[in-house]
Amino acid sequence: MAKKIRAILVDLSGTLHVDDTVIPGSIEALKKILLEGAPLIAIHRARYYKRSDGLALGPGAFVAALEYSTGCKSEAVGKPEASFFHSALEDLGCSATEAVMIGDDARDDVCGAMNAGLHGILVKTGKYRPGDESTVNPKPSYVAENFAQAVDHILSTWLISE
Ligand SMILES: [Mg+2]
Repeated sequence: MAKKIRAILVDLSGTLHVDDTVIPGSIEALKKILLEGAPLIAIHRARYYKRSDGLALGPGAFVAALEYSTGCKSEAVGKPEASFFHSALEDLGCSATEAVMIGDDARDDVCGAMNAGLHGILVKTGKYRPGDESTVNPKPSYVAENFAQAVDHILSTWLISE
């Protein structure tokens, strides 16, 4: 049975990039879903964050880079409460079951989204550690090696509609 996906929410750190390095294939995969008509929604735009070795570029820098590279303007929302997922979808006129969240954090990205009624895809990049998918309930809808494989899974398994 084909499921209609009208929105794809994407975690940034660990999913599209690790530190200041883009995970291979991420930009191309992002362009693929944007070409399907999906809007670009940034979870947040933090300019920097603190690491053990000092300050590092935050998601905001990569959101700006993605906007520049894809020619798309993003919409920023907050995470991790269900109300944030719902408010992101409300603006799109999209129900939770018509959306999928992709992220490297099994609890905050995937489980949070699934508890809000979305589909959830866990990627094995960034902060992912082997077995993370079995530590959460509900379990991820799908576990992908990386963002590019997650996008391919969505495009081949679920029908994207505008
Ligand atoms: Mg992350």
